[in-house]
Amino acid sequence: MENCLFCKIIAGEIPSTKVYEDEYVYAFRDINPQAPVHVLIVPKIHISCADDINETNSAVIAHIFEVVPKIAAAEGLTNGYRIVNCCGEDGGQTVYHLHFHLLGGKKLGENF
Ligand code: 5GP
Ligand code: ZN
Repeated sequence: MENCLFCKIIAGEIPSTKVYEDEYVYAFRDINPQAPVHVLIVPKIHISCADDINETNSAVIAHIFEVVPKIAAAEGLTNGYRIVNCCGEDGGQTVYHLHFHLLGGKKLGENF
């Protein structure tokens, strides 16, 4: 997808700190971390937001949630963590390539 920040990161056109990668998923450190561990997990295919998940692309979403425990373990999140997805304007989404925030490394507050 042209002019998509995360598509460019996945393609290596914009640098990122990779945490995990496989055929379907790329995970990298958030540039503005909100917790000691703040990883963004994204599908390699461009899906704009959660609203665009459907029966033709949902397998990659299931795969992301298979990968979450692996990344959490690798990051040492033995005491739990939080997964956050922001969808659309009211959800506070700023980058329109679907991503899941993996946050942890401290006891998180009630607000993100
Ligand atoms: P959203 O607000 O859409 O849920 O989350 C977008 C996230 O992307 C934010 O947490 C923001 O810090 C992160 N972000 C924005 N631009 C970049 C970038 O160029 N590199 C990285 N690693 N993260 C970014
Ligand atoms: Zn994209």
